[in-house]
Amino acid sequence: MKALYFDGRLALREVEKPRPGPGEALLQVTLAGICGTDLEILKGYSGFRGILGHEFVGHVVECAEKKWVGKRVVGEINISCGECDLCLWGLGRHCSRRTVLGIANRDGAFAEYLVLPVVNLHEVPKSIPDEAAVFVEPLAAAAEILEQMTVLPATQVAVLGDGRLGLLVAQVLHQAKANVTVIGKHGWKLDLARSWGIKGTTAGDGQVRDRSFRVVVEATGSPTGLRDALRLVAPRGTVVMKSTFQEKAQFDTSKLVVDEITLLGSRCGNFSIALDLLARGQVKVGHLLSKTFPLEAGLEAFAYVKETPCLKVLLATAASGT
Ligand SMILES: [Zn+2]
Ligand SMILES: [Zn+2]
Repeated sequence: MKALYFDGRLALREVEKPRPGPGEALLQVTLAGICGTDLEILKGYSGFRGILGHEFVGHVVECAEKKWVGKRVVGEINISCGECDLCLWGLGRHCSRRTVLGIANRDGAFAEYLVLPVVNLHEVPKSIPDEAAVFVEPLAAAAEILEQMTVLPATQVAVLGDGRLGLLVAQVLHQAKANVTVIGKHGWKLDLARSWGIKGTTAGDGQVRDRSFRVVVEATGSPTGLRDALRLVAPRGTVVMKSTFQEKAQFDTSKLVVDEITLLGSRCGNFSIALDLLARGQVKVGHLLSKTFPLEAGLEAFAYVKETPCLKVLLATAASGT
């Protein structure tokens, strides 16, 4: 099968079709999304070698549990051992022995087929088209914030970053009735936020006061984002960190102590919640889609993501019918 393989250099390769082990299913990928984490992996983040890609929608083509065969699915990306203390505490997403689809020790979704444990699969309701279902993984990550902390209605929230993840986070918090301001750099992305009834502004336009937000979500994908977040957060407020990057961030730790700031790391979330948000139309992803490339043009797609101001770029396999 064809796959986008990274071994220090990204290349389209012909590789062996994976075979499902016990408890696993073989999926035929339809669409897969390129994420900021993929770009960081190309810079060395996580030291990953293998087939990239962790955002996808596809069909089950082979599975010992026959009821899954033919089902349209998305899949949780952390594969835990199920036996260690962390797993027994219900923290499977943090299992020390876990593999992560397309990120750590497990081939990912930029391929015609992939393998995942059946327990990781979620059937996609008919009302959600493939082009929306492919957003379930990043949307679940956005919704994870509400699993980790209470955001009361009318809470002043700043979302730093108007990229793919920032715009999902903004919508999730907006539907939870928070008073959300997206702080970004691109007029057309901020206009998109405004079209959903969310405030959008650029950092330098004088509308944003320092120390004025109860919650600041850092979703810039840049090591300097944390410094800006700490400037904007109010005393006793919370900074939620969503960005992962290869570089190390530098910031003033005294600010955390003096202003009694809570720093909250936030990663993957619950897929059922994301599917529900999409099914109820509470999060809109249609306008977040910039361009779809065939899997075979994967290298072009990556070049496009790096060079063009865009939002989500997808890779489509022949199975997508496009
Ligand atoms: Zn991602
Ligand atoms: Zn474990």
